[in-house]
Amino acid sequence: MMATKVSLQQLITNPDRLNNLADEAKELALLNGIIMRTHETPNSSEVVTYAPFTLFPTPVPKDMFLQALAVQTHYNTLVDKISQDPDFLEEALAGTIQADDFTARLFGIYKQVQQEGRTQSIVVGLNRSDYMVDQREDGTSSLKQIEINTIAVGGFGVTDSIPVVHRHVLRSVGLLKESECILDSNKTPGMSAALAKGWELYGQQKAVIMFLVEDVQISKLTHRCMERELWNRNIPVIRRKFDEVSKRASLDDDKKLFIDGLEVAVVYYRSGYSPDDYMEQTWDARLLMERSLAVKCPDISTHLAGTKKVQQVLARPGVLEKFFPDQPKVVEQIRATFAGLYTLDTGPEGDRAFAMALANPDAFVLKPQREGGGNNYFGKDIVRVLQEVKSDKRRAAYILMDKIRPREEHNILLRKGLPLKLFSVCCEIGVCGAYVRHGGEMLLNKAVGHILRTKSIEHNDAGIMGGVTVFDNPLLI
Ligand code: ADP
Ligand code: MG
Repeated sequence: MMATKVSLQQLITNPDRLNNLADEAKELALLNGIIMRTHETPNSSEVVTYAPFTLFPTPVPKDMFLQALAVQTHYNTLVDKISQDPDFLEEALAGTIQADDFTARLFGIYKQVQQEGRTQSIVVGLNRSDYMVDQREDGTSSLKQIEINTIAVGGFGVTDSIPVVHRHVLRSVGLLKESECILDSNKTPGMSAALAKGWELYGQQKAVIMFLVEDVQISKLTHRCMERELWNRNIPVIRRKFDEVSKRASLDDDKKLFIDGLEVAVVYYRSGYSPDDYMEQTWDARLLMERSLAVKCPDISTHLAGTKKVQQVLARPGVLEKFFPDQPKVVEQIRATFAGLYTLDTGPEGDRAFAMALANPDAFVLKPQREGGGNNYFGKDIVRVLQEVKSDKRRAAYILMDKIRPREEHNILLRKGLPLKLFSVCCEIGVCGAYVRHGGEMLLNKAVGHILRTKSIEHNDAGIMGGVTVFDNPLLI
């Protein structure tokens, strides 16, 4: 049995020791800035708490962890290529925009910007590709992508120093060797460097990077980690909400974006991925920013490249080959991480997937074009939703995906409201990627680092904000 497992079992039988260790871990988290605002007062920093995390690092197979890191630069390239391929995006999303208003609005902005002609050739991409280790019935396992996120990616910032806490916890239970194996996970400098590069290429010393932020700012301290990196490079950062942009921003004759007398070099979206982020005026604000000369992270086409529909289309035979015509090894490396993905568009193929899902709903996940956790359907909810939309065009709002059976481990989850006990857990490995392109030239393309998020296996869907998932860092095995 693994040493961490033995320690966990010993701790569970000694509640005093467990309580003390959990307190110590939380306090060390606070000392290391692993903090977030509370759900009770999300817009105030008067009272903050620790960002939820696991007491121990969860074991993760090393080969699959390395596989996820190794494929990241190819995913960066793929997202970027998709964003430059109007025919592909149009075809891939044709059915979806008939069925889903939100994607249709985004696509409308995309079309309008296309028709006006692109104004900015600098592109900054900050994405995160998420995976689970799929445990097959024959005992083998493989790395499978859950999704790729191309807008408002989280998972770095305040949580970068979780390894410091895990090393300490392992040392205090006598696992010295294990503590030395814990990897660093310092992603904020790498993610910020891409924004800094975009700003530098824009070439206006006085222009600012604008963080486009949400109304409820529970993650503000994580943003501050990034802002600090940028200010340290003498890059001015401002924070504005959609509503402020819609009231106070404008374009000059050259389409330069201005707000409150400041020229905006880069718009960094930390909001704007959910229909809840938009009211009528804010759609105008999004359009204004997209039409502008400011560098967008991400631009509207890269945002669309991150939809679940695009993910499903990429899994069709021959599609990856079109994006990497002479690179069979790259195609193979990316495709190896694809789970089964199925169209639900109207037509015979969609009908087949529809029947397959109804016959065996527990084998699948039904996904709408949404981000942020809590939007997917599992089990009998799949049957309910599919029976509602039947074979009419509304079905195309969703895609169907094979359900992954993640590796099960045990850990203690530290989060307000959760009992201090051993949970059966599963993890999602995330790899952060950053790239900067100027016209036809990729100037930077990196796998910046990993994150691990862990939840009790009793939950199907996930979400740090929704109270289900906690931050973690792998113990490679
Ligand atoms: P979101 O954009 O809301 O984050 P995801 O596709 O990442 O959507 O799904 C949310 C969560 O649902 C994931 O973090 C994971 O826990 C679970 N999930 C998603 N797809 C699968 C799948 N194919 N198999 C098992 N669990 C899944
Ligand atoms: Mg996700």
